[in-house]
Amino acid sequence: MALAKISQSELELMEDDQAIIDLYLSDPARFTVCEFYKMGQCKFGEECAYMHPPDLALDDEGNDIY
Ligand SMILES: [Zn+2]
Repeated sequence: MALAKISQSELELMEDDQAIIDLYLSDPARFTVCEFYKMGQCKFGEECAYMHPPDLALDDEGNDIY
């Protein structure tokens, strides 16, 4: 089983907390920022399996999405 690579931005979100990293490795989807949320159009809302960080202001390219 291949483990998902943790990106630098995700590490920053985790604040290098080993317990959170362990949780990430056991359930990566919970710590993966929702691609639809980043575009501001996730239809799953609270039910979404992926992370919806409320303070998310930048996408992976560093562009302001708001
Ligand atoms: Zn979502």
